[in-house]
Amino acid sequence: MSDPIIEYKLPLYLPISNLEKRYKLFKLPNGLLCFLISDPTEKIASCSLTVATGAFNDPENMLGLAHLCEHMLLAGGSKEYTDPQIFHEEIGKNNGSFNAYTTAEQTTFYFEIPNTNIMTSNAQTADKIGKSTLTNYSIGKKEGDSVLPFEKLLRIFVSFFKAPLFKRSLIDREIFTVNSEHDGNKTSTMKILYHATRLLSNKRHPFHRFSTGNLETLSIIPRLEKIDVQKRLKKYFLDNFTVNNNMTMCLKGFDSLNLLTKYAIKHFSDLGSANVANNNDRDRKSTRLNSSH
Ligand SMILES: [Zn+2]
Repeated sequence: MSDPIIEYKLPLYLPISNLEKRYKLFKLPNGLLCFLISDPTEKIASCSLTVATGAFNDPENMLGLAHLCEHMLLAGGSKEYTDPQIFHEEIGKNNGSFNAYTTAEQTTFYFEIPNTNIMTSNAQTADKIGKSTLTNYSIGKKEGDSVLPFEKLLRIFVSFFKAPLFKRSLIDREIFTVNSEHDGNKTSTMKILYHATRLLSNKRHPFHRFSTGNLETLSIIPRLEKIDVQKRLKKYFLDNFTVNNNMTMCLKGFDSLNLLTKYAIKHFSDLGSANVANNNDRDRKSTRLNSSH
């Protein structure tokens, strides 16, 4: 039997401006920490996912791999949604936005859409099925039914972290994007000062290393060393996106805590199962190897 959901009853000291908001903090059986914020006055529905991994986990011969992995997760398609454009199109259709960033020890992905789209879709759906409440029909719909835009986006978004494809044909494009970000950084005084601090730091600490990645570290060196970049991306993902106690998810919107909890359970409960299966398999293989001599 799987572990139950663990809810944390923490005292949250809220400013008067936040008294309308309702919060819930709990851990799903897969170890994903979930923080929900429900606010009837909220005009945006949003979701973010943060993983406790970043540039400090870059392999020595592929600096920038964590950053490239962040790019590829949102751009490289998933087993469920093989066309990587679907997410971008859905976001565009709903006037939303998305982004992601990688720091030394953290990688964060997020998207948001205005509530107006949800309200419109709700009104249409409510007309069709003769209901007028906002919360009765978004859970449990089959694919192809009138799934609300936010839930549809949630499903696509989370699929990237369940079974990402890291399509080989898109890797070079994302390396170029990472390289242009690095080129842009070269003209930013703040970034230059940051890199100067990095260069002055202890050479044995990972902070000293280059972390953004560029054509040299992600394309030229791997080619010279015959490194398969796609394999490295998959390995980095399986090693570091383990979910159990290293990932946090936040949902925020005008929906009730009850509905946001249902979204969390429905879409995030099986997150990490591919990594667990793979790591178990790897553990078994290494046990076999160790016991063979
Ligand atoms: Zn980037």
